[in-house]
Amino acid sequence: MAEKHKKIQAPRGIKDVLPDEQRYWFWLENNFYAVAESAGFERIILPTFEATELFRRSVGEFTDIVSKEMYTFKDRSGNSLTLRPEGTAGAVRAYIEHGMHTLPQPVKLYYWGPMFRYDRPQAGRYREFYQFGLEVLGDSDPIIDALLIQTLVKYYKKLGLKDVVVRINSLGSERSKARMVGALSKFLAVYKKNLCADCKTRSKKNPLRVLDCKVARCQEIIGSASGVMIDSLDEDSRKRFTKVLEALDDMGVAYELDPGLVRGLDYYTHTLFEIAIRGQEDLAIGGGGRYDNLAKQLGGPATPSIGYAGGVERTIDILKQQAVEIPDLAKTDVFVVQLGDRAKAKATGIVEKLEQNSLRVSTALGRGSIQAQLREASRLRSPLVVIIGDQEVHDGNVILRDMNDRSQETVIDRNMAKLILKKLEEKGIRVISSS
Ligand code: AMP
Repeated sequence: MAEKHKKIQAPRGIKDVLPDEQRYWFWLENNFYAVAESAGFERIILPTFEATELFRRSVGEFTDIVSKEMYTFKDRSGNSLTLRPEGTAGAVRAYIEHGMHTLPQPVKLYYWGPMFRYDRPQAGRYREFYQFGLEVLGDSDPIIDALLIQTLVKYYKKLGLKDVVVRINSLGSERSKARMVGALSKFLAVYKKNLCADCKTRSKKNPLRVLDCKVARCQEIIGSASGVMIDSLDEDSRKRFTKVLEALDDMGVAYELDPGLVRGLDYYTHTLFEIAIRGQEDLAIGGGGRYDNLAKQLGGPATPSIGYAGGVERTIDILKQQAVEIPDLAKTDVFVVQLGDRAKAKATGIVEKLEQNSLRVSTALGRGSIQAQLREASRLRSPLVVIIGDQEVHDGNVILRDMNDRSQETVIDRNMAKLILKKLEEKGIRVISSS
């Protein structure tokens, strides 16, 4: 076959998300927006590529992400740019660039979008993957750490995930972290000849990164390093960490302490955590932590902050594995059923009002019986139906029917749109506009 007619395939580690998959994506995305907004976060849309320097100075020169996994290229003016491998660095860059430190603190941001890493493609690992993230910037109170974890647990619960485990650790303050690195460096020197080639370099340049290594013989050595880590935590850092754990206890959020948890990014200090599914802890569904010094490192004001990023694809994999029931994609948000001539006239006005509220509305104005109209509503998978008969016209209300559990309630006209929006949000069906 001539070269120019050869089939072109998606690059390795890159995937399409086909129509069949969409209901999972909507389920995650809509619920994420709903949970984030109700916890007081505001949406930020960040650029997909940034100056390479941003990731060098934040994620860290000797991390796997920066040293091996970045998609870096020069643009036509010779600037070095990188497809973002993660969202926090960009969020902090935007916070500084737009003077968000002058706003009331903390500034709470959420994002959703593709990330790019030249990872080794395998189950649950892609080269372009989506993350959702939450960042709380400008507040060092330990309660903030606990609240963030609580919000995330709420989100995963809302999705229907079971066996969610929070693992948590503290690296302590920058000083404490430096002590930890020193102690770890001494510890690793003893085992140096048993480390893999990469870790030999890491143990010299950035010992914490040895703890991310997946090579079996390094893992064995790492296993016995946790004592060294705990002992390095200074008194203030230990007190702070205790406050985070106490706040989680008060909130009834379960967690497991994991002194060996370091995560593969350099900017973390103090609280560090991962969320995983019990029995599959080696492939977390997301991770986060404090990055109190990052804004300063990037030329901004001192801004104690904490954030989290979750993987979309991995979360969807688990939902499927656990056979969690996800609603079918609705082709419409609400279906208006009318019975009788006066009701038909009123229905037109109601459709208009609902559409003004950005709802997708369907009707079957020509159809006769209520059954026929409800059948049409089912066919369109409408989650809610508004029913108007002559009585409702007379009383100035409508009947709102939930197509899932078939419950019905009478609603006054003027409250209708608001209630519908609320119900859809509860069902995780509508994207809430952030404007
Ligand atoms: P990280 O930004 O490395 O802390 O990763 C946070 C989450 O993003 C992980 O727990 C995964 O769910 C997801 N993730 C990271 N790398 C990949 C990848 N290569 N492919 C798919 N998901 C990923």
